[in-house]
Amino acid sequence: MQLSQEVAPGVAWLRTVMVNVVFVEPDPPDGRWVLVDAGLAGHDRVIARAARARYGDRPPAAIVLTHAHFDHVGSLKRLADQWDVPVYAHTLELPHLTGRRSYPPPDPTVGGGAMAWIARLYPCGPIDISTRVRALPDDGSIPPLPGWRWWHTPGHTDGHVSLFRDTDRVLVSGDAVITVRQESLGAVLTQAATLHGPPAYFTTNWSEALGSVLREALQNAGDQKKTKKKGALSGAKGFAAGAGLAAAAAPLARSNRATISRQECTVLKSYRST
Ligand SMILES: [Zn+2]
Repeated sequence: MQLSQEVAPGVAWLRTVMVNVVFVEPDPPDGRWVLVDAGLAGHDRVIARAARARYGDRPPAAIVLTHAHFDHVGSLKRLADQWDVPVYAHTLELPHLTGRRSYPPPDPTVGGGAMAWIARLYPCGPIDISTRVRALPDDGSIPPLPGWRWWHTPGHTDGHVSLFRDTDRVLVSGDAVITVRQESLGAVLTQAATLHGPPAYFTTNWSEALGSVLREALQNAGDQKKTKKKGALSGAKGFAAGAGLAAAAAPLARSNRATISRQECTVLKSYRST
């Protein structure tokens, strides 16, 4: 049974309640695969089952994290132990993965919506996987994933990264671009699709987050017309700017796979939308 859904060759996602994990293969394929993010706690079995359905008994070459928020590392330790694999993350996320630093607590006063208030209960870490975690190389490469690069897309967290494949412009964007307005309980329950910036209550630097979203979603898509919007939006501050971006980009949001421009930048977002 195929539990995960393929959105591009060698790229498939699996939802764990409100957040996705992604299965990614090198380009060209060489028999290896990597798990991107590790979902909510208690989902190690379903993730492992989906992995088995895709790859048989072959464990991943590594687990790569877009960032270390609780909903991306919940099942990390169990999976990494079970598969006995290294974990890669941006160097700025390492304090959250080595027991040294918590994230700032969610701020329920920004963004609005019931989920922002529920977010006060979200854990802020850190976890400690010191023996397994390694920093992603400075040159943008991902060791077990030839053909892919990581981009530093800070703002949602300091060390947030997105994964990009040059040959067909597939982007695994983590929480830098999502498809559900995560502050809204109604939207979370219905998973109503709209292209959206990261959850406001859990985002520490909005102007940086906005720059990251624009850079990855518009500029790198090579669409000159949309890139022009950068000037108009980059000066704006706070959540309103994120909402403005979302409104500007809303027509682009479709299902879990969005085509960001006619130049085909496929964005696989962390949050499921359909
Ligand atoms: Zn996050």
